Order: sequence, then structure tokens, then C-alpha cells
Amino acid sequence: MTASDDRPELVHESTELLQELIRNACVNDGSVASGQEVRSTDLLRTYLEDVPIDLEVYESEPGRRSLVARVEGTDPTAPTLLLMGHTDVVPANPDTWQRDPFGGELVDGEVWGRGAVDMLNLTATMAVATKDLVATGFRPKGTLIYLAVADEEALGQYGADHLVRHERDAVQADYVITESGGIPIPAPSGLCLPVIVGEKGAFWSTLRVRGAAGHGSQPYRTDNALVKAAEVVRRIDQYRPQTQIHDVFRRFIESMGYPEEISEPLLSPEKLGGTLEALPIGMARQFHACTHTTFAPNVIHGGDKINTIPDVVDLQLDVRTLPGQTSEDVREMLAEALGDLADDVEVIPMADDPSTASPVDTPLWDSLSRVTQSFYPGSTNVPYLTVGATDARFFRQLGVTAYGFGLFSEHMRFEDYGSMFHGDDERVDVDSLRLSTDLWHAVAHDLLD
Ligand SMILES: [Zn+2]
Repeated sequence: MTASDDRPELVHESTELLQELIRNACVNDGSVASGQEVRSTDLLRTYLEDVPIDLEVYESEPGRRSLVARVEGTDPTAPTLLLMGHTDVVPANPDTWQRDPFGGELVDGEVWGRGAVDMLNLTATMAVATKDLVATGFRPKGTLIYLAVADEEALGQYGADHLVRHERDAVQADYVITESGGIPIPAPSGLCLPVIVGEKGAFWSTLRVRGAAGHGSQPYRTDNALVKAAEVVRRIDQYRPQTQIHDVFRRFIESMGYPEEISEPLLSPEKLGGTLEALPIGMARQFHACTHTTFAPNVIHGGDKINTIPDVVDLQLDVRTLPGQTSEDVREMLAEALGDLADDVEVIPMADDPSTASPVDTPLWDSLSRVTQSFYPGSTNVPYLTVGATDARFFRQLGVTAYGFGLFSEHMRFEDYGSMFHGDDERVDVDSLRLSTDLWHAVAHDLLD
């Protein structure tokens, strides 16, 4: 028996709360004044206030508020579970949507709007489950914390990063669940539900390429920084970093139950390259990114006068690292890629956010594997490494086990889900909201009781 079997009104509450969160349009463009998540923390506080629950609001900058709701456990030695959902969303262009991105319309069983899958769906269902647990007299051994957090979409400086630095006691937990994951993927072994256990790191840098200034009318034997930068770009593009089959990727492929002739080459550092060439492009890019450090030269600035040979060119490079890699490793790889040009190139770091991963075999993993059986009997939870960044990283850096999970109905296909993240026509079906609402309920009982 799930919570919504007993109380069908919970699905309605999740749907309405999601619609209201979408309409609040807490659009985060990266500036301090944007987001204004206060609108949604006010909404959620009002919603939760009807039940006896401990509520606290934290503000990092004007309007950048996060809400913490706490159900204190009866046994201080029992674990604490933090359910974390962000309230901000990325911008949306109404001209390219079929419906108002901030209308929160319910059409044919789907809620439309920016944030419908990233991740107001989970933020809403987490709140509904938390309130219902309290209303139905849930008095767990362990502590349950619900966190509606600001600023996930722009590095978390005014949200999760701020809270772990300045309000640690409020968000201290043993286990964290946040976005994303839980999209049912049909595989030979049955339905697989990805659990995001880690994410790649980002090392962003400027490569300053130096040459010597000269007159554009006499280029012979000059040291043109732009010509050199072109060769730097070419070498980075040609560079083939070592293939690394991380444990998480191995477990993911092995759990899918592919026949040996498919899985073996995917897990072989020697054969993977050739195999990727034959895969559909979306899957090839994902699998390549999961098994390699990637280097993307994306911005170039240099030269300012048509008759002058430039002496400096700045090239911005987006490097994504694998678990365990440091900025030193990246610098070594760059030196290898650049060869004899390395001495002419200065690496100036812009951002260094190492990859983070939680262990797979934990009580939280076991709990999620148990409870998902009541929603998808016979399914398998499979670990997955995401190539993007989420607020989970702030908690993993503290040694907390943090996973990305939720549940979706089989109407939601993996390809559609991927393209809706920060894309057009973002929407979620009501049945997925029912599944997530019931999931949080079930996990809280399983892990904390
Ligand atoms: Zn998100």
C-alpha cells in the first residue's frame, strides 16, 4: 500500500504545488538579484505550516532564501536523511515553447513549465510527502530534513554552498537525495533505474598563448600568437586522453544485462574507442564523457588591429574531470597535449570544481533498492555518473553519501527527459508526481524507522 493509495488527494497536492512553483518563476540568470527564491520559500512555508513541523528560513542575499523543515528523530544515534530540492530555474524563451513556460498549465495529464523536470517536480513532491508524514504521525528514530534550496542553477553560492559553509548544523545529514535519476530505462535485464552516485568535475581555464608583436606587412619568420593558438587548438582537439573505466560505469553497463558481445567492448579501454564510433550520437557522447577527461576549447580572444601581428591570444578551455583527478592531473595532460608548445602557453585557472562520487554500497543504496521494488517490481537500480553538476557535490565533499534520484513513469523516456533539461516544452506527467510523492514516503519509513 503506498501513501497515495490511502490518500489520493496527495497527487492533487503535488500537482498544484508544482504548478504554483512554476508560476513563481524564480529564474536564475547567475546575477545576485535574480532567482528571488523568497517567493517559493514563502509558498512552501505556508504550505507546511499547517502541521507541527520545525521551519527555518535562511537568507544569503536579499531574496535569496532557502527553507529547512525538520522532523527530529527519537534516537540521536539513528541516521539523518536530507531531501533537497532547488526552487530556482534557468531562463526560458516563450517564443520557442508551445505553451507559456511560466503558466504551469495542466494539459492532458501533464504539467507544463520551466522546472517541471528540473527539479520543481521533486521539490514539490518532497514537500508533500514531508507534510503528509508529519500529518499521519510519523515519529521516526532518525531525523528527516526537507531543504528547499536557492541558487542551484548558478553554482550554489547563494544556496547549498552558503548553507554548508555558514549553517552547517541546519543541513548536516548522513544521507542526501536530490536530482536527478530514476528514469526507467528498458534493458535486456528488465527496467533499470539510474541512481546518480557521482558527477564529473569542471576545470575551467584560460590558456594564454604568447608570441611577439610585429608589423602585419612583414609576417615572414614572426612569432604570431594567433597562428600558434590555432596549433594549440588543433593539438587539444587531436589529444586522446586515456580511457578510464570507472567502477560506476562498469556497474552501470554490467547491470543492463547486455549480451557479452556488446558489454565486453564497452568495458575494454582498448576497444571502447571503436565501439563508440558505431553507437548513436547521443549515447556515444554520454559514454565517451563517462570514460574520459574531456577538453573543449570554446572561446578565443586575440589580436586587435588588422596590420599588427598579435603577441597574445587568450583561449578558454572547458575541461571535465573524472573522479579522483586533480588540477595537477589536468595540467599534466595539457602539457602532454601541447608538447613543444607547452612553454609558450600559460594555464590560468578560472574555476576548479573536482569531481565527486559517493560509494555505491551504502544503507541509502540498499534502502532505495528495496523501496523501488514496490513501484517497479523486478527493476534494478543502477549507479550512474552524471556529466553535469548538482548541489550534491557540496555534501559529497563533506563525506556525506549523496545520490540523485526520483521516480518517473514509463511515459517519460530517457531521450525526452535529457532534451527537456534546460530545453523547450519542459513538462512532467502527473503519474510521475504520484510515484515520487510515494517514493519519499517509502524511503523515510524504510531508512529512518
Ligand atoms: Zn536542477
